[in-house]
Amino acid sequence: MSLKHLSYDVAVIGGGAAGIGAAIAAAKSGSRTILVEAGPIFGGELLSGMSVDGVLNGRGEWVVRGVADEIFEECRKMDGFIGPLHDYRLICYVCVDPEIMKIAIMRVLDRYGVTPALYTQVTDVVTDNGVIDSVILTHKNQRTVLSAKYFIDASGDGDVAAMAGAPTELSDEKGELQPLSLMFRMSGVENGPLLKFVRDNANSLAVGESEAVRAGRTDEELAQAIYDQGEPTIFFRGNGPFLGGAIQRGEMAPTALIMIMPTSKARKEVCINATRVAENINGINALDVSRVVSRLMEQVWNTTNFLKAHCPGFENATFAGMAPRVGIRETRRVMGEYVLSGDEAAGAVKQRDVITKGAHHIDIHQDGSRQVRIPIADGGSYDIPFGCLVPRTLKNVMTAGRCISTDRTANGTTRMMGQCLGTGHAAGTAAAMCVAAGHDDVRQLPVARLQTKLREQGAVLDGTH
Ligand SMILES: Cc1cc2nc3c(=O)[nH]c(=O)nc-3n(C[C@H](O)[C@H](O)[C@H](O)COP(=O)(O)OP(=O)(O)OC[C@H]3O[C@@H](n4cnc5c(N)ncnc54)[C@H](O)[C@@H]3O)c2cc1C
Repeated sequence: MSLKHLSYDVAVIGGGAAGIGAAIAAAKSGSRTILVEAGPIFGGELLSGMSVDGVLNGRGEWVVRGVADEIFEECRKMDGFIGPLHDYRLICYVCVDPEIMKIAIMRVLDRYGVTPALYTQVTDVVTDNGVIDSVILTHKNQRTVLSAKYFIDASGDGDVAAMAGAPTELSDEKGELQPLSLMFRMSGVENGPLLKFVRDNANSLAVGESEAVRAGRTDEELAQAIYDQGEPTIFFRGNGPFLGGAIQRGEMAPTALIMIMPTSKARKEVCINATRVAENINGINALDVSRVVSRLMEQVWNTTNFLKAHCPGFENATFAGMAPRVGIRETRRVMGEYVLSGDEAAGAVKQRDVITKGAHHIDIHQDGSRQVRIPIADGGSYDIPFGCLVPRTLKNVMTAGRCISTDRTANGTTRMMGQCLGTGHAAGTAAAMCVAAGHDDVRQLPVARLQTKLREQGAVLDGTH
């Protein structure tokens, strides 16, 4: 098979939230940029229908802007932006229509001239003394050698950095990995009866899990606040009477939650997060993931029927579709020059080398109805330093998104889509600046210069709790 050759300034591997953020930022900053994605469409988990978490803190302050804003604005233009909502539990999040999101992403990538490479997987790397010279792209009909001055690993799994020899971690000493889940949507949901049911069943909800959000209110007052907000931002907890009772009766598979969030007002549609298989499956093992797809689909169908039978507002609702793929919460973390800890995240620690922020609680799903949820202090935000994006031993490579350098606990918050967009934005801008300056090691880039540029591009680096 003949080899094709391509050459770019910046090559971004992985077209999820992080890769999109990185490619847009790099191209916008003047670099010739290619975005490589194994699947048939860009978006990754942004297309699952889930809320984009971590762009606001629990107090409602925006902590991630810049590229994220541009994508949201495009969704808004097409009536696909429901906007920031509070869950009156721990966080504020942004709800979007995942079908509109598909178009919004393409529009912004096109605006800045990012070269798309869909249906294309990186299967190998060519390295020399800590420098990736090129990666091997495998498409259906041929292989391509893609060389670039800088590479951004936004594969979620740290594929590129791991292939190039950077140290990685998986899980912790216990070997536990977060469960796999499959998101799905239902349309024709009536908010009126659903929100009344929520208001009248506060003991079945998770609400007020941080002091900053609770602000002295009772569960009933927080359920009333959800009702008053007028949108279904609902978390039925696995150990509450509504869901816990159903699990005990065998009507629902064991789970920590039925989480409901709006995706489209026009279709009266919501996204539902309820399914799980918790068998410590490593998401990079395709055959192990494939093995549980049918089980997750049966859980989807069972939850659909359970909601229609037992949850007011769902009586005449219709199953409206599933996420494009099984959701994988946890695989490799690529160890970098800085390793963000769970204590720093939970403590809302601010850092000199900040390049973006995080605000979502630490969220580690476990088996059965178990889930670790640790709030960020004071409803505030923590800083992610540049060193989290710089893999040890590699010179012209950065990571962005789920695979950045953190301990396992911090990964429970940095994995959110808001932080993936934010770390992507920072990595893309940094790569373009390195290309422009002729740096052959990303460590030559002064972080203060990167911060100035990121602020100019609308990133939030300071001024929030
Ligand atoms: C079940 C579940 C529920 C969640 N709930 C929420 C939520 O409500 N809100 C929230 O904000 N976050 C949520 N998250 C977390 C969040 O969705 C993900 O952690 C985040 O989207 C990861 O973004 P990413 O860009 O790092 O990776 P991804 O979105 O996974 O994108 C990586 C992309 O890289 C591609 N790729 C991988 N390897 C290669 C390769 N070798 N070559 C080419 N392409 C490759 C993949 O096909 C993929 O499209 C949830 C996650 C899961 C799994």
